[in-house]
Amino acid sequence: MEVVILLDLSKDIKYIKGVGPNRATLLNKLGIFTLKDLIEYYPRDYEDRSKPKKIIELVDGEEALVKATVQTRLVEARIRKGLTLYKAKVADESGFLEITWYNQSYLKNQIKQGETYNFFGKVNFKYNKKEMNSPVFDLENKSKNTGKIIPLYPLTYNLSQNVIRTIMENGMKEVNGNLNETLPEYILKENNLYDINTATKQIHFPDNFEKYNNARKRLAFEELLIMQLALLNLKKSYAADEKGIQFSKDVKMSELIDELPFKLTKAQIRVLEEIDNDMESDKPMNRLLQGDVGSGKTIVSIIAAYKAVKCGYQVAIMAPTAILATQHLESFTQILGRFGINCELLISNITKKRKEELLERLQNGEIDVLIGTHALLEENVLFKNLGLVVTDEQHRFGVKQRSTIVAKGNNPDTLVMTATPIPRTLALILYADLDISIIDELPPNRQKIDTFAVTKHLEERVNNFIKKQIDEGRQAYIVCPLVEENEEINAQSVLELAERYKNEIFKNYKVEYLHGKMKPKEKDEIMNKFKKGEIDVLISTTVIEVGVNVPNASIMVVENAERFGLAQLHQLRGRVGRGEYKSYCILKYQGNSDIIRQRMKVMQETNDGFKISEKDLELRGSGEFFGTKQHGLPEFKIANIFEDMKMLKEIQQIAIQILNQDPNLSSDQNKLLKIAVNQKFKSGVEM
Ligand code: ADP
Ligand code: MG
Repeated sequence: MEVVILLDLSKDIKYIKGVGPNRATLLNKLGIFTLKDLIEYYPRDYEDRSKPKKIIELVDGEEALVKATVQTRLVEARIRKGLTLYKAKVADESGFLEITWYNQSYLKNQIKQGETYNFFGKVNFKYNKKEMNSPVFDLENKSKNTGKIIPLYPLTYNLSQNVIRTIMENGMKEVNGNLNETLPEYILKENNLYDINTATKQIHFPDNFEKYNNARKRLAFEELLIMQLALLNLKKSYAADEKGIQFSKDVKMSELIDELPFKLTKAQIRVLEEIDNDMESDKPMNRLLQGDVGSGKTIVSIIAAYKAVKCGYQVAIMAPTAILATQHLESFTQILGRFGINCELLISNITKKRKEELLERLQNGEIDVLIGTHALLEENVLFKNLGLVVTDEQHRFGVKQRSTIVAKGNNPDTLVMTATPIPRTLALILYADLDISIIDELPPNRQKIDTFAVTKHLEERVNNFIKKQIDEGRQAYIVCPLVEENEEINAQSVLELAERYKNEIFKNYKVEYLHGKMKPKEKDEIMNKFKKGEIDVLISTTVIEVGVNVPNASIMVVENAERFGLAQLHQLRGRVGRGEYKSYCILKYQGNSDIIRQRMKVMQETNDGFKISEKDLELRGSGEFFGTKQHGLPEFKIANIFEDMKMLKEIQQIAIQILNQDPNLSSDQNKLLKIAVNQKFKSGVEM
């Protein structure tokens, strides 16, 4: 008889041993609500506490494991109220080490003279003494805190690593090797992958690093495979749609192109041909338009909109911020107004009356092009005849949001635009559901933006340089980094910095600041003033990152540039050099690691977004700052599309093969894949 073992992965975290109401709340903050969430909360790093070093081999500043015998009684020294030290002298056959703990009176019963322990902690050399502060320890034959590889979890809030680790141990006990397999047997075999239970165990508590690597490979493989299957499936579902709109061949894009004040680049023309072909075909267009900052994507979308409107359809343009949407309205109206095309703006902070009026005119077809933010997604936004959907800076929107807007028409064509310059190979994989067009050429006569990377000691010169530019009539941006987890603190630091610039450094100039916590209306007001030249220096968090166009601004200063990804620095730099004036980007950085210097060097040496993005991948530090978020790429629990690039390519092939043989994943052997793919769509994971 088959024994059925019930493992309830949806079990609330508060029922796991070691989790009380308090800890449950903290775990919830980490996004951990169930047992499943817990065991999928993977370590960000590991500490090898398995190999003891001889005391004589210790290096100043390292964290190390030492197996040593306590030579003295634990000495207690009260330094002042609230600070008591506990000191022990320990030794192995190679030398002595002095250990100090702070305020841990319970150690009096634990550290015994003559006993041998494993100590793990940070080593300091002081004069000719070796010290270790507050190490964790075990009796020599125990392995609670030492003697093994210890997982370190990404965020813990007020839970210590120790506590999370213990909870994880309890969770794993609960699981007890009874996880149901999530990948088909044949895939595990063919690709030599761990089963799910081994992988889960070894990712949290690896026996050694080889097993860790295997576990990681298996879990990353699964994530990437499911993503690929989901994307390819999505693409197939577009293709299978009965029919899209066949825009008329009689409306020529050239009618508009011939009227433009400038000549399109070869790349723009090529891309427009691709779009035109899609529009005239009866299949719905699903096209990604990739192009570096300033490469002229907007005009491409304006020309596509022209064609759609002249063919009798409405167009929706969706941008991630109100600032950007407003700017698009200007560009669209400027060019399309002459042709009697009616463009309007829908953002959330307009009056109810105005909104009602807009919606009505939209529904009876008086509005040709509706430009807006997420506000376009609302249910009551109804088009008469939506034929083309454009989303700008697509990485700010998920697949789900795109499909919401698309559903407002009858299989409209869609164009998604992005300035995230990722290598083509990667784009083909990550946007497997879209056809790709690339503008790989900037309009002619663009001036090179001179980029300087400077450290603190040049601050005064930088400030004087900014003043000189302002005196000549230009404007400057100063951007500060934003730390995701704690926007509050950062808004604070922008304010402080703004005050200093305002009241001290640039006290004779008009200085304003902009940050993410401000109301949209306030932001718009400031942005408009800046556009009109009523502000000399705009201090800001990265809210200005996307698409803002102020041709008179000639200086971009980035504070703490070392905290930004190169791709993002490049985006920021793209805010200047948009007019006739010579422009400059000044990257202020701290720290003197090799990687930081190399990254700054890349920024100084090239203006090519694609090259920068490749270098970014190459020179990625391990810090979260350079994570995928800034690239606008999908987030994975464990896979890393940069490090796992090779695997990703292989997996795309595997996914294609699977779907070739079994397009609907309906065979018995692919049952598990089907479940996982459906799950991925249902959970609305943004891909
Ligand atoms: P992005 O691709 O970053 O969205 P934009 O579409 O905002 O770039 O274009 C940047 C600027 O370049 C705009 O002022 C636009 O009018 C101008 N532009 C676009 N195409 C050309 C071209 N072929 N020749 C000259 N200027 C152009
Ligand atoms: Mg743009």
